[in-house]
Amino acid sequence: MGDYTVKKDISEMSLAFVGAGKMAQAMAKGFLAAGVVKADHITATAPSCRSQPTLEDIGCQFTHNNKEAVENSDIIFLSVKPHILPGVLQEIAPVVTKRHLMVSVAAGVPLQFLEEKLPPKSRVMRVMPNTPCVVRQGASVYVPGSHVEKEDSEIIKSLLSSLGYCSESNEGMISAVTGLAGSGPAYAFTAIDALADGGVKMGLPRELSIKLAAQTLLGASKMVLETGKHPMQLKDDVCSPGGTTIYAIHKLESGGFRNLLIDAVEGACLRAEAIA
Ligand code: NAD
Repeated sequence: MGDYTVKKDISEMSLAFVGAGKMAQAMAKGFLAAGVVKADHITATAPSCRSQPTLEDIGCQFTHNNKEAVENSDIIFLSVKPHILPGVLQEIAPVVTKRHLMVSVAAGVPLQFLEEKLPPKSRVMRVMPNTPCVVRQGASVYVPGSHVEKEDSEIIKSLLSSLGYCSESNEGMISAVTGLAGSGPAYAFTAIDALADGGVKMGLPRELSIKLAAQTLLGASKMVLETGKHPMQLKDDVCSPGGTTIYAIHKLESGGFRNLLIDAVEGACLRAEAIA
């Protein structure tokens, strides 16, 4: 590991996203919106056969050269698909030094694997973010590896907090977090679309239906977070005896609504473990 003084101030640090896809773009745009990192301090990479104009368009640097991006950065977000990651680790390992905080967002790839593929004592962390990071309403957890310092965790906590909710976790929980929060936005998008279909079926214009559905989920979520009440208490509060809402809840229960959501989280969690 080379001789290098680790920077402490995020605004001085340069970030690299190795793999400039959907998750990297969501995080980079969130960091810029939060003002925690400047665009010219972010470098994103993708293979030479691909171009990623989105991040370049907002002032980030872009290269096809993963090693060059790592060499010029302090915090490296490994944001390629899990099956691509082993090859990328092999490629960049020769240029990873004491300077670098390596942060994998890949589902299902354990810390031990990451640490084994990088030079001894590399500072490695796992993060499980989700794409609402782009609007700074993400839900993320981070798990420190064996050689990270307290300051590293503080830096990642501070970066992720600028993108929404975040908390430290342990690796035993990260597949469940993947199943709930990592994949969760897709469940919510599907729910919004289905609710909007219901509105359209009953005569509402599509655009109004989508807005009402999305705002209803947003409002309900804020009530859970801001009142601190249990979700089922809030549900009971809006189910008047013999009213419209309890009739709808009966329909949801008859269709196995909760069971399906529990199955969805379990399915994604087990899939994350199978990828490992
Ligand atoms: P994606 O396919 O959108 O992005 C992957 C990027 O990697 C692409 O830009 C691709 O061109 C690039 N790439 C491929 N090979 C490369 C290589 N050798 N070197 C550099 N770049 C390369 O995928 P994504 O959805 O952004 O997922 C990326 C990672 O984020 C995955 O490991 C996934 O588990 C994790 N993740 C994704 C989400 C999500 O909602 N998308 C949520 C949590 C975690």
